[in-house]
Amino acid sequence: MRIARSAAELPNESEIGLVPTMGAFHQGHLALFRAARAENTVVVASLFVNPAQFGEGEDLERYPRDEERDTRLAEQAGIDVLYVPDAEEIYPPGFETWVDVERLGSILEGDHRPGHFRGVATVCLKLFNLVRPTRAYFGQKDAQQVAVVRRMVQDLAVPVEIRVVPTVRDENGLALSSRNAYLSPDDRKRALSLPRALAARDRSLLDGLEVDYFEEADFEPRVLAAAVRVGGTRLIDNVVLEGDPQ
Ligand code: AMP
Repeated sequence: MRIARSAAELPNESEIGLVPTMGAFHQGHLALFRAARAENTVVVASLFVNPAQFGEGEDLERYPRDEERDTRLAEQAGIDVLYVPDAEEIYPPGFETWVDVERLGSILEGDHRPGHFRGVATVCLKLFNLVRPTRAYFGQKDAQQVAVVRRMVQDLAVPVEIRVVPTVRDENGLALSSRNAYLSPDDRKRALSLPRALAARDRSLLDGLEVDYFEEADFEPRVLAAAVRVGGTRLIDNVVLEGDPQ
């Protein structure tokens, strides 16, 4: 595996699978890597903690970072190139062009995290333009992110196929997330009511947690999506209501 620190070092191949990430790899990321590895000649994983998708007062500074461990895991997963760009390559001086997916980017998560999906859509388009992937891989865990990226790709005729991988959970049903590292052992127990409430379609099981939303969303496929706060940590999850997450 090579590490590319600038776009000039990216591969120039006809079939590339791209897995965009913010690092702190867990089995969810590894599932995306496996899917990309199975379907493409060359696999690029990007590691970039995108400041533009964090709001003021969010966890940008303390977001878990461990490039050494991520490098090892990416290599073991058969990634060909780990792309770790500088912020200046993604947002060059004078940067002022943004992608705003208006409705899909402003409901649910977008309502609670204004500007979040503008940051997501913009960094994804930038990564697609730099890496030029045939396929790009996203997790169903972030169902609204998938909906936003798909909408952008369709609206702006971006030549990439969006592939979606089912949510990976731990043995108790908690969806894996880099942010789970913030949870104390007690938080972790309380967080389990999130997957349980979603599985049972029963909001009352979230009793005691601060709920941002617990709502059906008209994504493809339809999901029941929720965001809660456990201690100081915000967690999101969803269950597919119909169809397969492809
Ligand atoms: P992140 O590094 O958190 O931005 O996530 C990178 C990609 O991994 C995104 O497409 C996420 O949706 C996906 N992902 C994160 N957690 C999971 C999970 N538990 N199962 C499947 N995919 C996931």
